[in-house]
Amino acid sequence: MRGMNEQTSSQSPRYLSDDDVKKRIQTASLAEVTAAELVALFMQETAVQQHLPDGRCQQDPRDGAIILYNEVRNRRPHDNKPDAPETAVAKPCPICAGNTTKIVDAAPLSQGFTFINKNMYPVVYPVTERDDGFVGLHFLQWTSSHHDADWHNMPQADRATVLARLAALEQTLLLADAPPLPTAEAWPGGWRSGGRPVHGYLGIFKNYGYLVGGSLMHGHQQMMYSPTLPPAFAADWAFYQAHGKSVAAYLRDENPEALLLRDYGEMVLCVPYFMKRPYQMLLFPKQDRTLLSELTAAELAMMADGWHDAIRAIRTLLPSMGREIAYNVVVHNGPGAGLYVEFLPYSQETGGMEHLGWWICQQWPETAVADLRRVLDNQA
Ligand SMILES: [Zn+2]
Repeated sequence: MRGMNEQTSSQSPRYLSDDDVKKRIQTASLAEVTAAELVALFMQETAVQQHLPDGRCQQDPRDGAIILYNEVRNRRPHDNKPDAPETAVAKPCPICAGNTTKIVDAAPLSQGFTFINKNMYPVVYPVTERDDGFVGLHFLQWTSSHHDADWHNMPQADRATVLARLAALEQTLLLADAPPLPTAEAWPGGWRSGGRPVHGYLGIFKNYGYLVGGSLMHGHQQMMYSPTLPPAFAADWAFYQAHGKSVAAYLRDENPEALLLRDYGEMVLCVPYFMKRPYQMLLFPKQDRTLLSELTAAELAMMADGWHDAIRAIRTLLPSMGREIAYNVVVHNGPGAGLYVEFLPYSQETGGMEHLGWWICQQWPETAVADLRRVLDNQA
């Protein structure tokens, strides 16, 4: 880590100090807080009050896409927009500078902390005055208080801790004794986890790079809780109903063995035979699960290893294509998914043809597998 800081040693420290993390802790662990209390803490956060979302929402009647209108968000800070080279390295990181909301969960890592706080620029809020409004909670997980530590370079135990804290947030919100937000419904078809009804949905995703929606370089995940079913989860549920098995189970049965990248024991990383863009990958457990919080500690650690491998491969291969490092990670933890994680490197642009559902992919899945295996085998 010291080596990483050296290149920016002339600037402000590239980490939020342990003392500064502790000063911002509101609840040290999600184990101490109920879902209803989390909602209250979100609404009491003064930093969020200044950046409330518009609350305006529409649904595309053709495909069910939900559009959240939010002009306020246009004013949030960015530190990774491409700039003139002389100014590109000079921008301070708001997180390392301590410009954060209060923390609802902090777990020590081998160096620093991983912590969860409220998004200062949330796209959803627990209440809205609009009839067409969309309610929810928008949290952030800072992978590490150290600026340059993220999935690709963190020690194994640390990345397992990061994923375990995501599972803890999911458990607190989705398996609460009562729905955290009033319009929450049980999962379609009466889905339950561990015998308990599940309330609402937690969208978990990662945007890295300006090209794919990442506004800050400091490694983070976004978690958006809502009682409204995300269309991608609806598609997983429709898949389950059509095929009689989860998406993950289908992949286990149907994705060719030749496209397997890593078998971690209870978790598998592969390139799907229907790869839409170069180096897209899927990660899923061998046993059907629904929520992250259903994973055993060993499975969580293996899933964290999969995140580590997929992201470090993306970070190596995109520059080798002459492209910026930019990718999304999306967790499918809704009904019918069987739990799977999508890794979506920004390896090719999207054209009009793709908007018709005809995807032109400039790489064969077998070529992607060969490249990815070479990278994974060369980097321990
Ligand atoms: Zn930072």
